[in-house]
This record gives sequence, C-alpha cells and structure tokens, in this order.
Amino acid sequence: MTPLSRFEQFSALFPNEKLFRWKQLSHAFFDPVVKNWQGVTVLPKPMREELAKQIPWVSYRDSKVFSSANEDTYKAILTLADKKQVETVLMANKRDQWTICVSSQVGCAMKCAFCATGKMGLIRSLSADEIMDQYRFWRAFLNEGAIGESRLQGARISNVVFMGMGEPLANYEAVKTTLKTWLSNTDLGPTHITVSTVGVLPILEKLLSDPEWPAVRMAISLHSADPKTRHELVPSSHDLFIPQLKKWAKKYLKNLGNRRHHLTFEYVMLQNVNDTDHHAETLTNLVRSLGQIKVNLIPYNFTDSEFQRSADDRIERFKTFLETHGVDVMVRRTMGDDIAAACGQLITKEGSGRV
Ligand code: SAH
Repeated sequence: MTPLSRFEQFSALFPNEKLFRWKQLSHAFFDPVVKNWQGVTVLPKPMREELAKQIPWVSYRDSKVFSSANEDTYKAILTLADKKQVETVLMANKRDQWTICVSSQVGCAMKCAFCATGKMGLIRSLSADEIMDQYRFWRAFLNEGAIGESRLQGARISNVVFMGMGEPLANYEAVKTTLKTWLSNTDLGPTHITVSTVGVLPILEKLLSDPEWPAVRMAISLHSADPKTRHELVPSSHDLFIPQLKKWAKKYLKNLGNRRHHLTFEYVMLQNVNDTDHHAETLTNLVRSLGQIKVNLIPYNFTDSEFQRSADDRIERFKTFLETHGVDVMVRRTMGDDIAAACGQLITKEGSGRV
C-alpha cells in the first residue's frame, strides 16, 4: 500500500484545518531557514508539537554525500523510509549557481542499453514528497555550508533537471505535483526546470492537453533518429516512434514554442553505433523538419556495458556537421564521473551504502 503523503497525513490529523494552513506549511518546507517543525512559527505551538510527533519533517531517513575531486559535483544517496535508496546530484553551473539532478523512481523499467540505472530494473516509483525533498535536501546542504566549505554557503539552486534515476513520465502524477509545489514555493521558474524523458508517447500526448501540467522545459532522449538504431539502444522504442514523435513535437512547439521555449533532443555519443556521418545526417533532417530544437550531445559515461565513448574528434565532426546545417547543438560537459554521478551512472544496490 502506498504510504500517505504529508498532505494526507496532515489532513487526517487536523481534519478541520483550513487549506491556508497547508499552504503556510508547504511554504515553510522550502524556507531555507526553517529546519524542523518547531521552526514553523506561523503555526500554533500545540499543532507544531503534534506534527513533530506524527509526521517526519523530511521523507528520507539517512543520507550520504560524495564529493567529486574538483568539488564541482556532489552526489547524495538518500535512504527512504522503506530503506530503498535513491541518488540525487548537485552540480555547479556556469553562473556559479547550482543545478540539481533529481530522480523520479528507484531504478527504471526502460532498460536503455547504455544506462546503469536500467540494469536495476524498476524497484518502485517515488512519491511526490520523495521527489520534492531532493530539492529540500540540497537546499539544506547548501545552507548549512555543508562539510565546512564556505563557498557553498547561501548558494542558490537555479536549475533542476529530471535526469537522475527513473523515467519521470512513468510517474506522471507525482512529478506533476512536485513541479507545482516547487513553482509555488521556491524561486524556480518553469524555464529553469527540465524534464528529461525517454519519450513515453501516450504520456507526452496527455501533458499537451493537461491544463495542470506546468510549462517546464522538455528534453527527449533521442539517441538516434534512425528507428533501427534507436530500438537497439532504447528497447521501449518501436518503428513508428520517430514519425509519432515528430507529430507530437510539432504540436508541442505550436503550443509552447516561442523565444523562451524549445525542445531538447539528448543524444549519447557511442563509438561506431550512432556517431557516423549517416547518423548526423538523419538527425539533421529530423531536427530541420521541426525547428526550435536544441541538440545536446552527451559523451557516453562509463557503465557496465559493451559501449565505448565516441572519440573527441568524432564528437567534434558530428557537432560540426549539425552546426553547418543550421542545427543548434552543444556538447554536454561531463561532471562527477569520478564519483559515478554523471548521466546514466546512477545505480544503487540494495542494502549497501555505496555504489
Ligand atoms: N529516463 C529519463 C532520464 C534519464 S537520465 C530519460 O530517458 O531521459 C538523463 C540522460 O542521460 C538521458 O538522456 C539518458 O539517456 C542519458 N544517459 C543514460 N546513460 C548514460 C550514459 N552512460 N552516458 C551518458 N548519458 C547517459
């Protein structure tokens, strides 16, 4: 049985309380100076005492943080109430602010051939509280000037990416609740949040007509514009995926495409698999038929798989091909690979504290 959310627990404890109390509370959860129930001074004291007895302040019960050697990336393993573990990452971004990478599931059912999380299979989806608390975890970490590094103190979380463990669109309602909660209670704006998806077409369709789905940025993990190669890399893909994605992307860009909105295609660079001139051309044709697409090339990060990272000159050649054909393309910087915190390296083994 799914455990009750914080909101459901609060409503059960205080059935006659008005919704504005819950709003005050939700705000307090994201207030960097409030560290526990006692600190929520807008609530009457007896209520705070009761809440402290009944509802945990955060949804993780333990945490372990690893720092990359150059201290621009931190990875946390959070242990949840049922002892399942999930990983989340904090990365310095170029404006000396921080981007957090959050997980939406423990494990993942998608089994992408090159991804470590896929090897775990799906263990379970996270609740909205567990997803949103990854932000609260890093907020507290930064605020406490954690591990004595003053340069982290007071630093801001400026961006969130759903590029941790799991497939966010396979946990749609919890992700949506999380997005709405962050947008109402933090200084994050919708264009600073990116939901990365393998491309679950029925759910992509659903979000287009869901008035409650916030206008956050979307990134599609394409990895190949050629149906056969894509199916080899992403087993959930099928022959009609590319034409159907194209149809969807046109609708998405019609609804949301403007100067501030584009769609991102992520593309992991795998030596001799999807990095040839033929693949560059196929990708270019797809992108050019859509417009307002940014391509993000991701150098493959080592996992226990048969793949090799494309050589630097191959990545450069691929990028130049796209650029000369008018495609907006960048190569994603690899961060945190020394602590297995880079894209696709997140994997937790049950019962062990370390990867
Ligand atoms: N399920 C979501 C989030 C996955 S992680 C999705 O599929 O988009 C974010 C990105 O990292 C995805 O594009 C994913 O395909 C990519 N990725 C996975 N394993 C990788 C690896 N070993 N090296 C580089 N990128 C990887």
